[in-house]
Amino acid sequence: MQPQKSRPGAGTAYDNARSNDTPIDAVLHRLDRVKRTAPGKWIALCPAHDDRRPSLSIREADDGRVLLKCWSGCGAAEIVSALGLSLADLFPGDRRGLSDHGTGPMRRPFDYRDALQGIAHEATVARLIVEAVNRGEEMDAESLDRLALAEERIDDALRAAGGVQ
Ligand SMILES: [Zn+2]
Repeated sequence: MQPQKSRPGAGTAYDNARSNDTPIDAVLHRLDRVKRTAPGKWIALCPAHDDRRPSLSIREADDGRVLLKCWSGCGAAEIVSALGLSLADLFPGDRRGLSDHGTGPMRRPFDYRDALQGIAHEATVARLIVEAVNRGEEMDAESLDRLALAEERIDDALRAAGGVQ
C-alpha cells in the first residue's frame, strides 16, 4: 500500500452542500477526471496514489452506498481519507433522499450479482490488508476498522439475500 498522502482542504468546498448530497454525489464531486462508463458506474483518478490514468472504479449499489475499487490496490479507507471523507460517508444516511431518486431498495428485487460483486470486493480488500501485514506493515486501527466494515457488508448482503439462518 502507498504511504498516506494528505490533501489539506480537499472537500471543504463542498461541506455546505454536504447534507443534501447522496454518497455518490459526495464522492464524485471530490474526484478528478470522472467519467461515467455505465449506469451507476464511473472511473476517475485515484486520489490515494499518484494516478495518471484513471484507475479508480466507482459504483453506486442499489441501496445507495458507494463501492470504490482502485486497480493499483489502494484501500477504500485510504481513498476516502484522501478525499476528506470517512468510510461512513459511503453509506446513505437518509433513505428519503434515495426514494426521491427512485433508486430505493424497495423498488428493485435483490440483485445477486451485485451482492457477489460486493463480496468479491470485500475479499480483495481483506487480501490487500493481509498482504500489507505480511510485508511487515503495521496492522493499524484503520485496517482493523476496514476489516470490520468488510464483515459488516458481507453480513448485510446475507441479510438482504433472505436473512441469517
Ligand atoms: Zn489508488
